[in-house]
Amino acid sequence: MTKPIILTGDRPTGKLHLGHYVGSLKNRVLLQNEDKYQMFVFLADQQALTDHAKESEMIRDSIGNVALDYLSVGLDPSKSTIFIQSQIPELAELTMYYMNLVSLARLERNPTVKTEIAQKGFGESIPSGFLVYPISQAADITAFKANLVPVGNDQKPMIEQTREIVRSFNNTYKTDCLIEPEGLYPANEGAGRLPGLDGNAKMSKSLGNGIYLSDDADTVRKKVMSMYTDPNHIKVEDPGKIEGNMVFHYLDIFGRQEDQAEIQAMKEHYQKGGLGDVKTKRYLLEILDRELAPIRERRLEFAKDMGEVFNMLEKGSQSAQAVAAQTLSEVKSAMGINYF
Ligand code: ATP
Ligand code: MG
Repeated sequence: MTKPIILTGDRPTGKLHLGHYVGSLKNRVLLQNEDKYQMFVFLADQQALTDHAKESEMIRDSIGNVALDYLSVGLDPSKSTIFIQSQIPELAELTMYYMNLVSLARLERNPTVKTEIAQKGFGESIPSGFLVYPISQAADITAFKANLVPVGNDQKPMIEQTREIVRSFNNTYKTDCLIEPEGLYPANEGAGRLPGLDGNAKMSKSLGNGIYLSDDADTVRKKVMSMYTDPNHIKVEDPGKIEGNMVFHYLDIFGRQEDQAEIQAMKEHYQKGGLGDVKTKRYLLEILDRELAPIRERRLEFAKDMGEVFNMLEKGSQSAQAVAAQTLSEVKSAMGINYF
């Protein structure tokens, strides 16, 4: 029995933060270590270029940073194939063939793309590469014959687009060489979504309200000390609110089983009055540090030899390419364009 295949990855447009960690990285490491799946994890630099064409240096830097983020949280190149999208030309080639099966109107209807176009303020100057990025995602997913793609709910239209392409390709060319993937979604809207330090609904790079996995201990301390709590909890003896208080929200997310009694006691004390924010923040810092310190240590180790990190990416890209080349060859045979 072959194992189900999982494809997952990130756009290398900066460093990863705690939102990425609770939203996806942690889960990837668990899936990897369960040993029930074959996992491909990739850095989608081509996709990042579709809306950052003039920032190729930032993308280059992010490749190294995100690779370090991956290694330091425990993604293991001996268990998962970690690769860089742009190093696999087969993906671009598959994209070409799939583009002929998708109408422009269909691309323009994609609700996620529509929202993004508005957010990014492209106006009339939408890069055509950006408009077709859902097709390039279909190429990524199908090249590895992925069965499962863990993504946020906002990515549902992308999975649907991929499934349509698979059906259309298999139908058109009378083949079954492409596999229809399933999305693996969070249980409910907002599940796995970490709010920002400032209380905003989402920790996000561009909002500048996050803790990065690469932040040193002192930076994390300063950030935690500045977290949004209860603006009406001014004096220590004032009763405080738990709802919307980021310190307690994070304690709920990062506290383990053995911390629950302490967290509960703190909540009660805080609501009654007499517990200051500095104390709750110090406690949260301990909890976060327990999670972040080992990640930080591993990062420092890996960062000593970036040459080795890039070797790892090169090897991962080579083995990923072999898989994609096999799929491309099946695709071309199905289309009858295998001339020689
Ligand atoms: P930007 O501000 O540039 O949009 P970001 O910090 O929001 O950056 P993205 O690169 O947009 O990060 O996020 C990529 C993916 O990471 C998202 O699709 C989502 O799955 C996950 N993610 C981002 N932020 C969070 C968060 N706060 N909580 C959980 N998951 C997140
Ligand atoms: Mg975002």
